[in-house]
Amino acid sequence: MKKQEIEKMSEQLFSKQRLVWDAMDETEKADVWEFDRQYRDFLNRAKTEREAVARVEEIAGKNGFSSDPGSGKPIRMARSFLGKSVALCLSGKRPIEEGINLIVSHLDSPRLDLKQNPLYEDVDLAFMKTHYYGGIKKFQWLTRPLAIHGRVIRSDGSTLDIVVGEDDADPVFTVADILPHLARKVQTDKKVSDAFEGEKLNLMVGSLPFGNKDTKDRFKLAILKLLNERYGLIEEDLISAELEVVPAGGARDVGWDRGLTGAYGHDDRSCVFTSLRAIVDLERPHKTSIVLFVDKEEIGSDGATGAKSKFLESVLADLMIAHGKEPLYHEIHKVLMNSRAISADVNGAIDPDFQDVHEKRNAARLGYGICLTKFTGSGGKYGASDANAEYVGWLRNLFNKNKVVWQTGELGKVDEGGGGTVAKFLAPYGMNIIDCGPAVLSMHSPFEIAHKADIYMTYKGFKVFLES
Ligand SMILES: [Zn+2]
Repeated sequence: MKKQEIEKMSEQLFSKQRLVWDAMDETEKADVWEFDRQYRDFLNRAKTEREAVARVEEIAGKNGFSSDPGSGKPIRMARSFLGKSVALCLSGKRPIEEGINLIVSHLDSPRLDLKQNPLYEDVDLAFMKTHYYGGIKKFQWLTRPLAIHGRVIRSDGSTLDIVVGEDDADPVFTVADILPHLARKVQTDKKVSDAFEGEKLNLMVGSLPFGNKDTKDRFKLAILKLLNERYGLIEEDLISAELEVVPAGGARDVGWDRGLTGAYGHDDRSCVFTSLRAIVDLERPHKTSIVLFVDKEEIGSDGATGAKSKFLESVLADLMIAHGKEPLYHEIHKVLMNSRAISADVNGAIDPDFQDVHEKRNAARLGYGICLTKFTGSGGKYGASDANAEYVGWLRNLFNKNKVVWQTGELGKVDEGGGGTVAKFLAPYGMNIIDCGPAVLSMHSPFEIAHKADIYMTYKGFKVFLES
């Protein structure tokens, strides 16, 4: 065989991965920067699941989605539940019985939640106790500026929404850490998992006393007085509250060339925003499209607003009624069994400093586009919803045909660890489902890193999926 023929054969036979940046023309590169601008605005205004729902509703509302869709065609319906999960539906040209195209992502991100009796004082400082939410490396939350976002229900039943720590004029909060000079016994000589205790993640919230030295709990009282004057709160109100402690400040460009975005909550608001944009940018898809945003993924998808809830069935029933059809149980399940779904979630990119935990032939890389993950789970695919070959084949061909730059990614070496997504909670309906989303670095940290080109390619991938 001639050298040229061998080269031609290699070109034909080897599977090859492409950098998104190499695959795009100048117009598309300009789209990447514009999309990033919108994405960062979303990230900065959606730092909790409640804020994300409000933002999704706002953007969807501006694009014609309504809780009362009427009888016009196509139907653009928005349904939200308890302010923590939301679904957007866009009717297609084909009857709904033929199945829907569904993208599910999660609105919640790891954080510190305030406990229900949070406020106390110690060594003449005021603190609030926290209980961490989701899988965090606790030391990453020490010695950094933190903001409080959330909702309080006052004793008169009224609602108070709080955001403190985001405006430059706001104070911030922080969790202190021991100085290195004294850390040897309490931290340095311990295993990392023992060195940082969840019970020590106490938020510093005050330092000025009230009254005189005979006043009881005068630092705690000073904070209660302030909360009462500013918000009309009493201590018991904090019991009926969901106050979430998140990194203060907005998303930032990372690197001299600004190609990366560093932010809190890429997991999974990158998929929330890209799938939201994908559905609002559609006119009239072939099949009915539903984009579902759920809560509680980071703590197991339980509860009324998690992926294990029956919200999707209820949304489908509403949609069938809007189409003038009777929402029989049997019919709803037939629709779900005929459906195709993407469990839209991030994957861990190869970490340049910890390459040993990845198996490089099968690991996702920053800049290589939307990542297809056939299965998740750990220890022999345990706990995985493994997408079937037929579905992977269909999706990869769809992406190839539409110039979506994609890669595959398995989370870590065999027996190195693992993780799960909502896929396994939706697969029991009988639908085809696969994990799909951008790869990120420093996942679950207060400052996750994503590649702008991957975020854009995720949007493009989700859009062609909904159009299919
Ligand atoms: Zn996630």
